[in-house]
Amino acid sequence: MSAVATDHLIRPHGGTLVDRTGEAPDDLASLETVELTSRELSDLDMLASGALSPLEGFMGQADYESVLDSMHLAGGLPWSLPVCLAVDAAPSGDRVALVDVTGKPVAVLDVEGVYDYDKEREAELAYRTTDTAHPGVERLFAQKPRYLAGKVSVFERAVPQFPELALDPADTRRVFAERGWKRVVGFQTRNPIHRAHEYLQKCALEIVDGLLVHPLVGATKGDDVPADVRMRCYEALFEGYYPKDRAMVSVFPAAMRYAGPREAIWHAICRKNYGCTHFIVGRDHAGVGSYYGTYDAQKIFEEFERGELGILPLMFEHSFWCNACEGMASPKTCPHGETERVSLSGTKVREMLRAGERPPIEFSRPEVADILIDAMRER
Ligand SMILES: [Zn+2]
Repeated sequence: MSAVATDHLIRPHGGTLVDRTGEAPDDLASLETVELTSRELSDLDMLASGALSPLEGFMGQADYESVLDSMHLAGGLPWSLPVCLAVDAAPSGDRVALVDVTGKPVAVLDVEGVYDYDKEREAELAYRTTDTAHPGVERLFAQKPRYLAGKVSVFERAVPQFPELALDPADTRRVFAERGWKRVVGFQTRNPIHRAHEYLQKCALEIVDGLLVHPLVGATKGDDVPADVRMRCYEALFEGYYPKDRAMVSVFPAAMRYAGPREAIWHAICRKNYGCTHFIVGRDHAGVGSYYGTYDAQKIFEEFERGELGILPLMFEHSFWCNACEGMASPKTCPHGETERVSLSGTKVREMLRAGERPPIEFSRPEVADILIDAMRER
């Protein structure tokens, strides 16, 4: 492995990139087991890689309560969402094996404690709703009743869905350094990228050295576009429209929580660990349905002291092609009216794609549209 100096990059959250990978212990077969859900497995893998630095394991009660109450860990560092492991009861030993859904051991956890938690309270504070129609709240309410806290050591990493694009924070940091990037903007997405998001990314890229498009590939809700289809779209887009020495795609292994504003903060902190200095926050980031106001995920950044997060959020309006401007624009930069603007609702776009029709080129790159049309047909 080449030794590339990465000291010039932004420091990980808390100062040190955590590494919770390790060897399987000799007494593994004798340990009590705890089975993880797909969301918990995503979190575990991110604990292993340091994507959740400074966390070294599933949260204890002090951190959990502090995060819910004040969006800070008990030690004072900003943190917006619980990262917890739900169990039925306290294990009998002081060490347990964590197993995946097939029963395969993937990690050990050194038990620091087991505590009760209030699902209503967590829903209200983390998701701003207790409505079980919200996918994050629904999952929370279906969880086991207690939380198990402790540091983890992961000896079996999750098999990545897109191995060539699966980079740990240490890897993205190395790539940024090799490319000579110091200031890097991260873009979170769980959707295909149309012209509007391409525009935001390129606006941001104008003021930094590099762009990391970082699509989330952990569990999403069933009606989101499947990750493999999205990946084909990103490839086509990068092939045709992005400068190779300034932009890259890698996958973000997190599961969606749909926690809107708090998840925007969490997404930003994770991207800081991957080496990003800037993070794009659009409208209704990580939202679902109409649970959050359009700009709530931007406003929440104001609840932190200046510089406290370390990573700088870049807030964007919705953007569109304007016929009078003859270019991409937003309400901030375009003085013209709706009639000049090419904008389509998500419903309308899906309708067109299902009918085999490309949306206007001002809305979607034809290469991307064709991939989505094909995917609709296959379904
Ligand atoms: Zn205009």
